[in-house]
Amino acid sequence: MRKVIIIGGGAAGLSLAIGLKKIGMTVKIFEKREKNHNNGLALLLLPNGFEVLKKMGLDREILKKASPLCNFVSQYSNGKQIQSKPMSNLFGVKRSDVLEILRIELSNEDIFYEHEFSHFRFDEYGNAIAVQFTNGHLEKGDFFIGADGVHSIIRKSLFPNNTISKTNVTEIVSLIKAPDLSKKLDNTFIKTICKAGARAVGVLPCSPKDIVWFFQFDETMINFDQGCDDIRSFLIHQLSSWTSPVKELLIRTDFSKSYLWKTHDLNSLPAYHRKNIALIGDAAHVFATFTSQGLNAALEDGYCLANLFATRTPQTPVSKIFEMYFQQRNETAENYLEYGRELKNQFLETQYQIGEVTVPMAF
Ligand SMILES: Cc1cc2nc3c(=O)[nH]c(=O)nc-3n(C[C@H](O)[C@H](O)[C@H](O)COP(=O)(O)OP(=O)(O)OC[C@H]3O[C@@H](n4cnc5c(N)ncnc54)[C@H](O)[C@@H]3O)c2cc1C
Repeated sequence: MRKVIIIGGGAAGLSLAIGLKKIGMTVKIFEKREKNHNNGLALLLLPNGFEVLKKMGLDREILKKASPLCNFVSQYSNGKQIQSKPMSNLFGVKRSDVLEILRIELSNEDIFYEHEFSHFRFDEYGNAIAVQFTNGHLEKGDFFIGADGVHSIIRKSLFPNNTISKTNVTEIVSLIKAPDLSKKLDNTFIKTICKAGARAVGVLPCSPKDIVWFFQFDETMINFDQGCDDIRSFLIHQLSSWTSPVKELLIRTDFSKSYLWKTHDLNSLPAYHRKNIALIGDAAHVFATFTSQGLNAALEDGYCLANLFATRTPQTPVSKIFEMYFQQRNETAENYLEYGRELKNQFLETQYQIGEVTVPMAF
């Protein structure tokens, strides 16, 4: 029986592990963080991600936790509405809820926390045979998966010339426990934009009790240091004249828990694997924040790769399966990448004019 070692316990690593375990493979996930580490704020679950969860039989679980988003409203910061449109199969969901639902499908013995990847050990043919962790633990395996996110060390070791670059778009994301505001939003995702461009606020419910909101801006326009007071005063300075619900958000947010998110770009990789090591999720591709595809593409990758193992004979070489996985996923990933770059450029460059509006977001 082949043994797979997955490095990274995010949505990509967990969804792949679930699929591989179902077909009887031995799977071990190694995650650098502690089990109860802050698991992030919230994510958008798009129809493609929801479809994967449905195929995995987890749609009912996610529906218990997530908030359906039935309408999208965009408006200018002075309150003038741009558009309002219905949406379906779109959800706001806390990252911790997504991970919890995926982890339930695995057992405690499958996931090892506080194991930070250090390097691989290789045989004389260049195949990895074991992973060395920074805590001294060494784990042998037959093949290996880098699911270690945007700043993937495994990507760096496989493709040292393909480095991520910082974009000018920065986000400040905040979560507010506010059942009243969540109810008031009435399953609506509201995006408020500055007519002069390069500044936008998104707000959406991500559970019946919580809402998440984010301020996206061009960081070349604005200079500030990270820190609760700086973030708070910066946002008040930027947004205090903006229309509802932005005004209420400024009053209700505990900025000490806000997250400053620097966004990145990565050119397409020439492959998602080398020998018996493959990349999935953000480790394999990095999309602009406007696509909201991080979680969704990660789920698609995990499901796709597990499905390839399920439908090939045990004699099929792992490198062959990894090639098929690249062929199946690369075109979609390139589309998300290009689309995200387009949306990012619109966000950074467009001077919004009433009557000829392009709203820079994926939906
Ligand atoms: C802590 C955290 C909070 C986040 N919060 C948000 C959010 O609020 N909103 C949003 O839109 N996106 C957020 N993201 C990003 C989002 O989760 C991903 O874009 C998306 O889910 C793709 O999933 P992934 O599994 O490919 O990557 P990730 O979700 O980034 O998972 C990668 C995992 O690999 C682990 N890892 C990294 N390096 C190593 C190493 N050397 N050894 C072992 N393990 C390693 C990380 O700890 C992480 O658990 C967050 C990511 C993280 C890690």
